[in-house]
Amino acid sequence: MKPVIIKSYLLSQFSEIVHGISTKIGSVNDFNFNLGNFSNQQNDIKEKNRKIFFDALNIDLKRVVYQQQVHSNKFTLVNEPKLEKENDALITTQKNLFLVVTIADCIPILFYDRTNQIIGVVHAGWRGTYSKILLSTIEFAITEMKLSINDTFFYFGPSICSNCFEVDEDVAQLFDSKFVKKKEKKFTVDLPQVNLNYLMKLGFNPSNVHISRLCTFECSSLLHSYRRDKENSGRMIGVIGIR
Ligand SMILES: [Zn+2]
Repeated sequence: MKPVIIKSYLLSQFSEIVHGISTKIGSVNDFNFNLGNFSNQQNDIKEKNRKIFFDALNIDLKRVVYQQQVHSNKFTLVNEPKLEKENDALITTQKNLFLVVTIADCIPILFYDRTNQIIGVVHAGWRGTYSKILLSTIEFAITEMKLSINDTFFYFGPSICSNCFEVDEDVAQLFDSKFVKKKEKKFTVDLPQVNLNYLMKLGFNPSNVHISRLCTFECSSLLHSYRRDKENSGRMIGVIGIR
C-alpha cells in the first residue's frame, strides 16, 4: 500500500520540485500514519512511517530538515540537514535538501521561487498568523535573497477551515474584522485569507497561491486534526525540495 500524498496543482507544474502533504493513509498496519513527534505514538512507529512517506517521494531521509515548531514568528535559512529548534519556517536555495513542516490543523505553507531557486516552508496556526510568520519570512527572502514577487508560487495545504475554526472573542479581536465572523456564541477566523492578504500586500498575485479546500477537522478519515482528536491526534508533514 502506497501512502496517499496530497499535492498542489501549482507546484506540480515544476518537474524539479518534489513536494507533498501526508495524510492518515500510509501503511497497512497503522491507519493513522502519524509522522510527528508530539503525540502518544511510539518513536519507532513514527520513524517507520516517515521512511514510508519519504520513500514514496524518493527522498533520502538523511537530506531532510526538521523543525521543532513553537507557534513563533522565527524563520531560519538552512543549508544542511538538521533539526532546527524553536522555529516555524525554513528557507533554502540548496538542491537535494528537503524542508519539513508538521501540522494537524495549522496551515502548512510551501513556496517556490522558480527564478531564484528558493524554497521554503511555513507553519502558520493562529499564533503564527497573528505574529506574521509568513510575512516575516517572505520579507526576508525578498530583501536578502531577491525573491521574485512574480515568479514565486505558494501552496497553503489542508488546514482547519474558517467555518470550523471557532474561537472566543479574545482571539477573534486579534484579527482584522473582515476575516472574522460571528458564529452563535463564538467567532470564526479565516486564517488562510489573513495569510493571503499578507502576500497580496507585498504584491503577490493571488493566482500564484493555491489554497487547499480540504478541512482537517471535517475530513476525519483522511486528515489529522488536533482540535478534533486532542491528545490522540497524529501529525501530518508537508515537505518541499529541489532535485
Ligand atoms: Zn471545516
